[in-house]
Amino acid sequence: MCLGRRRLLFRLAGLVRLGDSVQYGSYSVIQIGDGIYQLADRGDPKARLGGLIGVDMYLILGTSKALLIDLGNNYVDGFPGDLIPPRKNAAAELLAVLDGLRGKLPLEAAITHAHPDHDGMTRAFAGRKEILWMPKGEDLEAPRKQHGIDPSVYTVFDHATKTFDLGGGRVVKPLLVRGHSNGCTSYLLAKDLMLFTGDSIGIGAGRSLRSAASLKVFAEDTRRLVEYLQKELTPFERHSLKVFTGHSVENPIAGFYSADHPMLDIDWLDWRFVQDQALCAAAILKGGWTEPDSGLRMMEVTNKQTGRRVNVMLYGIGAIEIPVQAVYEAAGLALPQ
Ligand SMILES: [Zn+2]
Repeated sequence: MCLGRRRLLFRLAGLVRLGDSVQYGSYSVIQIGDGIYQLADRGDPKARLGGLIGVDMYLILGTSKALLIDLGNNYVDGFPGDLIPPRKNAAAELLAVLDGLRGKLPLEAAITHAHPDHDGMTRAFAGRKEILWMPKGEDLEAPRKQHGIDPSVYTVFDHATKTFDLGGGRVVKPLLVRGHSNGCTSYLLAKDLMLFTGDSIGIGAGRSLRSAASLKVFAEDTRRLVEYLQKELTPFERHSLKVFTGHSVENPIAGFYSADHPMLDIDWLDWRFVQDQALCAAAILKGGWTEPDSGLRMMEVTNKQTGRRVNVMLYGIGAIEIPVQAVYEAAGLALPQ
């Protein structure tokens, strides 16, 4: 049930300690920092496909501006082919939460990538003043194809030059991590030691990639991400880094993907995961699974969403789901007959 607006404001004011949460509409609003919130939509267990089972947005308040990272699942459009039925009051509920949290601060929104579970609430901002940012490299026509929205509602930014200065030392730096999509972006909030990764490096169960070409750019960009974090943060800071993904509901993993192990309690990910994703990709390019001591393992597991048997490459706590053919192609090795 929706709360009245005054009651919502009263409850949002009760978000004080880390982990405090308020439920409103389909959103759990969780305090993850001082003026930093996760808007977790746990999704519909009956819905199909990965993005539909729960997606997160993040709101960061500075002293002069507020930034929303990602635009959530699509409950607004009812666009033909959309797998989520439109939900009454979806736009009003999201805007009420955002307006309640930001107060008088001007708001901007930046998506991690232009997939429907991350730009699905675009239409909620129709006729409003917010700047909506899309990373360079993403499919500019995606809003039209997915939701029938004119893509000109988005302003494209270049990772090389763009930063979001929210005031009070809160500067958010977008970092390109291709592989899942061509402009897929992680956002670093160095002051608070938080990295918002969307789908760029994956969830606790890893990142799925479809081709050798995707793996190659993923390897290149995750290596660059690791180098950037090593340069920008001290060792102590890196090990305090909290990594917030686009689908935190999927973060808990069963040890090495086995259904026989209890699930690990993973809420957010960390510096170790960032490194192991980069190391996993790098080890695949070197054909590491053919060497017993490389640390890279290849195994077949059942994908929990699709029920299909898939190939997974594991390195530490890093994992990449990718077809066997793509792995051999990426390493420049002949596929065994
Ligand atoms: Zn997603």
